[in-house]
Amino acid sequence: MPTTSRKADFPGLVGRDGQPWHYLDTAATAQKPQAVIDAVSRAMGTDYATVHRGVYGRSAEMTLGYEAARRRVAAFVGGREEEIVFTRGATEAINLVAYAWPDKGRVLLSQLEHHSNIVPWQLAGWQVDVCPLTGDGRIDLDAAEAMLTPEHTMVAFAHVSNVLGSTLDARRAAYLAHAVGAKLLLDGCQAVPRMPVDVAALDCDFYAFSAHKLYGPTGIGALWGRADLLAAMTPWQGGGAMIDRVAFTGTTYAPPPQRFEAGTPAIVEAIGFAAACDYVDGIGREAIARHEADLARSLREALQPMNDVTLFGPEDSAGIVSFAIGDIHPHDLGTILDEENVAIRAGHHCAQPLMDHLGVPATARASFGLYSSQDDIDALVRGIERARRIFG
Ligand code: PMP
Repeated sequence: MPTTSRKADFPGLVGRDGQPWHYLDTAATAQKPQAVIDAVSRAMGTDYATVHRGVYGRSAEMTLGYEAARRRVAAFVGGREEEIVFTRGATEAINLVAYAWPDKGRVLLSQLEHHSNIVPWQLAGWQVDVCPLTGDGRIDLDAAEAMLTPEHTMVAFAHVSNVLGSTLDARRAAYLAHAVGAKLLLDGCQAVPRMPVDVAALDCDFYAFSAHKLYGPTGIGALWGRADLLAAMTPWQGGGAMIDRVAFTGTTYAPPPQRFEAGTPAIVEAIGFAAACDYVDGIGREAIARHEADLARSLREALQPMNDVTLFGPEDSAGIVSFAIGDIHPHDLGTILDEENVAIRAGHHCAQPLMDHLGVPATARASFGLYSSQDDIDALVRGIERARRIFG
């Protein structure tokens, strides 16, 4: 993939000193292409008005734009428009299911989940069971099969781990969940930017993701949910736009997805979300997946010969590589790399139970995007070599 030209689409990839910025923290949030920035700017400028309420032309046009964005996002994951609830992000999408699902019982999570796929279930009063991992850092579906019982009403797994880059065999997870009568929620935050996703082919019941990891704006994400399941769920937040009729004697609610979108929605962000889907599909998700897998392999190959390196996660990780270099604290490594215009993530990556499992307080993580290149890896490796010299 010609990443040089792709980099030119992203104004954020230039450092404060005007030099290239080797941004290797795309799993935290992706840089934005000019096409998305322009779409957001138009929506916030010349096209701006509220949606769903105005009787004037601009509002009617914006309503069409907002609902077209919903169709676009639905198509991006192979769903129907009435199955897409716009949320503040993946976190809110998972909270929505955890709170609004009528049959709160036992949920099976895994050891590698992001906190946003752990804490909502705890807060909403579910009984949480934890599926272990295989030796190479995948969710152990043989163990899941042995653990699942008819008491489980939900299974909620990351489609791709934000720390290890391991990809779930989602179809098998769906089969196992459905075999005991449970639903499968996939946390698709890290999968949606990195590979083709088709919710029907995956056979899942809910799919949660965030626009900002998909080259779109912050402040918006989506919950895709099977229409019959959304219809069985009661609202979890009340306010304008989610009602049918309000009276002090009793209020009735709009059908999904509006039922779950209380208040003025993130109109501008929805338009930007759709523009991001267009941009990514213009490149092609198969091509992005191959590109990121090649980069992950290349980084592993560059690090492996260092005698003090620990690589976490499977060989075939999807564009995300976590590692440790000897006794160098990941934060110190991150600070030295920053001096070299290289940005990595250092910390627990909002996955403390996974850190406990790995036996470390933190890892260093390099994560790629469609704009990442071998140059970025070379700069990272040079920076790591410098850190090793400094720390002896
Ligand atoms: N799940 C995973 C796997 C993630 O990587 C993240 C973001 N780091 C989230 C959930 C939460 O996403 P957001 O903060 O956009 O709601």
